[in-house]
Amino acid sequence: MGAKRKCDNCGRTVPKNETIYEIKIELYAKAEDLEIDKDDLQEDHMAEIEAIIEALEDMDVEEVTDQVYECYKFDLCPQCRENFHSKLKLRSKENTQSIE
Ligand SMILES: [Zn+2]
Repeated sequence: MGAKRKCDNCGRTVPKNETIYEIKIELYAKAEDLEIDKDDLQEDHMAEIEAIIEALEDMDVEEVTDQVYECYKFDLCPQCRENFHSKLKLRSKENTQSIE
């Protein structure tokens, strides 16, 4: 099999005796609760919603999907994996500190 073993981060070819890692990044709009009160549900909003739907219909399906969900995959050599690992670990620690 001629599968290429190349690090997407540093561009280095990863030798067969080294493990190659894959990092997957998912990027999507955070789901937030929609707050709709009764005052918002008035008829003139229907026209607004219809305009939005019309605009969406004119858009390329891929274009719409890209705005909702993006997924990237990168191959990493052990060194770059270590690099990402320590940075991500540091970052997630910052974010979870208050929960613990
Ligand atoms: Zn690398």
